[in-house]
Amino acid sequence: MITGGSVTSSAIPQPGTGTGTAETVTVTTGRRTVYLVVLVVLPVLLLALAVPAAWGWGVGPRDLVIAVVMYLVSIFGIAIGYHRLFTHRAFRCRRPLRVALMLAGGMAVEGPVTLWTAEHRRHHKYADREGDPHSPWRYGDDGWALLRGMAHAHVGWFYTARRRSSPRHWVPDLLADPDVRRFDAAYPAVAALSFALPALVGGLWSWSWTGAWTAFFWGGLVRYAVVHHVTWSVNSVAHTFGERPFRTRDRSSNVWWVALLTLGEGWHNWHHVEPTCARHGVLRGQVDPSARLIRWFERTGWAYGVHWPDPARLRARLAERDASSG
Ligand SMILES: [Zn+2]
Ligand SMILES: [Zn+2]
Repeated sequence: MITGGSVTSSAIPQPGTGTGTAETVTVTTGRRTVYLVVLVVLPVLLLALAVPAAWGWGVGPRDLVIAVVMYLVSIFGIAIGYHRLFTHRAFRCRRPLRVALMLAGGMAVEGPVTLWTAEHRRHHKYADREGDPHSPWRYGDDGWALLRGMAHAHVGWFYTARRRSSPRHWVPDLLADPDVRRFDAAYPAVAALSFALPALVGGLWSWSWTGAWTAFFWGGLVRYAVVHHVTWSVNSVAHTFGERPFRTRDRSSNVWWVALLTLGEGWHNWHHVEPTCARHGVLRGQVDPSARLIRWFERTGWAYGVHWPDPARLRARLAERDASSG
């Protein structure tokens, strides 16, 4: 299960020592408006619409199946693809799986992989300090300041940030990858597919236009809104509440219900100790479905060079915590 060995992040260009390009670039007003609509306003609006819809005509078993499958594909795509593979290089894998994981991540409609990765690598460098794109502690520690900070970490930063992480600075490795470049260029089509796919399946399954429409609503629109809020809760909730069994410079924490919904990503404390580790839930009882799937890919020969947690290092970090608290 555990392959051991020390984990390094040598594959990822270290900011400040890398390409010498600026860390951030200006965001145009047009782009900020797109972020506002797609990332902030629409998900809330759709969730508000989903409540009376569920009340009025309900969610049929067909739409539920389609929505759950689309949810799993999107969340695994973000957790395993965008996050553990492309951002942190926690493992390597064969090309068809790499492309499939990128496409699955694209189904979440959280932006092209280079953009997502650039913001997230900057988050790790400056976590909960000046320069972090989305720290809930940005405005201070007391009640209102924290509430405001959580809103900022959850969705606010998409619109308020006047500068975003420069892909040239943060992800030169991805920009050099022809598959990634093709994916980013085709991103609008990928995002459209995220809504067309459930509609198509619903239409064919029910052999009716109504079936296509309701599947589009539940499996496309509502699912995308839920996926967004679930993902962003790692930035807001799992940097504010929960347990911190490991000492880190930031306030990353473990929140079980976030971990459940994000298929493992809510075990966020260890992730900030060792970002390149393929498993985030490393303590007893911390179920990490994304790590299990990576393990399964490894067993079937699709993934290799997986950075599993080093038991000795894990023990040392826990002992360090016990020494400081005791
Ligand atoms: Zn974090
Ligand atoms: Zn990360």
